[in-house]
Amino acid sequence: MEKPPYKRIWYACPYCGKRLFIYDNTALVKGVYIKCKGCNKEIKVQIKVH
Ligand SMILES: [Zn+2]
Repeated sequence: MEKPPYKRIWYACPYCGKRLFIYDNTALVKGVYIKCKGCNKEIKVQIKVH
């Protein structure tokens, strides 16, 4: 069986645009916080199913 073609997307900081991590189109994230290494701001990460 072949792997389904995952679509990889960069999650960029909404404040400074720094790329923080990659997720794919199966990701579902809620209630996760990450501190941006670029501007040091805390970002609430929300990824909905595409
Ligand atoms: Zn930032």
